Amino acid sequence: MEIDRRNMLVGGMALAAAGATGAFAAEPDRKIGYAIVGLGYYALKVILPQFANCSRSRVVALVSGDPAKARATAQTYGVPDHGIYDYAHFDDIRNNPDIDVVYIILPNGLHAEYTIRAFKAGKHVLCEKPMAVSAAECEAMIAAGRAANRKLMIGYRCHFEPFNREAMRLARTGAAGRIRYVRSEHGFVQRDPTKWRLHRALSGGGSLMDIGIYALQAARYMSGEEPVSITAKDSTDRTDPRFREVEDMIEWTMLFPSGAIGGCLSMYSANQNHVLAMGDKGRIELEPGTRYDGNRMWVGADGREREITNPPPGPGVNQFVGQLDHMADCVLTGREPIVPGEEGLRDMRIIEAIYRSAREGRTVTL
Ligand code: NDP
Repeated sequence: MEIDRRNMLVGGMALAAAGATGAFAAEPDRKIGYAIVGLGYYALKVILPQFANCSRSRVVALVSGDPAKARATAQTYGVPDHGIYDYAHFDDIRNNPDIDVVYIILPNGLHAEYTIRAFKAGKHVLCEKPMAVSAAECEAMIAAGRAANRKLMIGYRCHFEPFNREAMRLARTGAAGRIRYVRSEHGFVQRDPTKWRLHRALSGGGSLMDIGIYALQAARYMSGEEPVSITAKDSTDRTDPRFREVEDMIEWTMLFPSGAIGGCLSMYSANQNHVLAMGDKGRIELEPGTRYDGNRMWVGADGREREITNPPPGPGVNQFVGQLDHMADCVLTGREPIVPGEEGLRDMRIIEAIYRSAREGRTVTL
């Protein structure tokens, strides 16, 4: 536990130092080349436009099952024809020296396969959350990265988001005193019954895999602890065509070694985005807490007394740039990412325990 906590702290400090001292000095002009795998919503609408704001990252390749979309996207971002791949020819990326990092933005059930293939092609990997659909897959991904001597980072963007970074710092430095309880609820209304997210083979699960993982992360990074036991309850209308294969709503309680409790809720039936850490000297609250933008934060003795409007900037102009350039920095300097594969594995072990607890109707010890 202590080692985990220290690793997070060291990781955070290393990130701060990289920004402050110019860790890129060794290769001042080099930009790390990214291949984006899967041109869906998050890749097209959120990630790709951010390369223009990156100082250490550029997009050099695209992998897609839709050739017309790939060609149009390549034109928009100046990706050369030889940098366009389909899934059948994915392994050819090994022959493209421009590609340093493969960024996997595919449905969850495909993360492990493409991560392992990317490592076999000699590339570093940034993989979206959730890392995979089982702890066993996460372990195989980590092993493949080690065998290839390549970096593996998970797309936990909140670790690069200024409000969340400041909230973590305040929690660690005792601004709220001894943290006793962390509450986090995350949800949105999932309207599309045809989405891969509602099919277990591709999603691995329902709202918990998708949005509830933010509540789990928040409870862990605000408490700075790893849970020792989990009690969970699933409430899903299985006659709703959206929820034949995956859960809608799941609530769980985590007991931490200090005696603190994490209480989390994940759902596909209402919009909610909230993090609240309660300590014996005060509270740290974010609402919304983990959005792409517009997050807000308060600290106070017993309420929202002081709003923090201007947290120290993160490592990039926004969380997405911070994340992309951090991975680039890790490749350039050999440093470990602050959110490595092991962090994704920790979450996946807890997620498996949450599902087991709900299924078996008992507390699961970790
Ligand atoms: P989309 O459904 O919008 O896109 C997924 C893309 O994957 C598709 O467009 C397709 O691209 C490709 N794909 C390959 N095989 C399949 C298949 N069998 N079924 C469906 N798509 C396939 O999903 P998102 O972009 O919303 O999510 C992708 C990943 O990113 C998920 O792991 C998700 O959890 C994560 N994510 C993370 C976010 C964050 O804030 N960190 C936010 C949103 C998503 P193509 O047509 O090019 O082959």
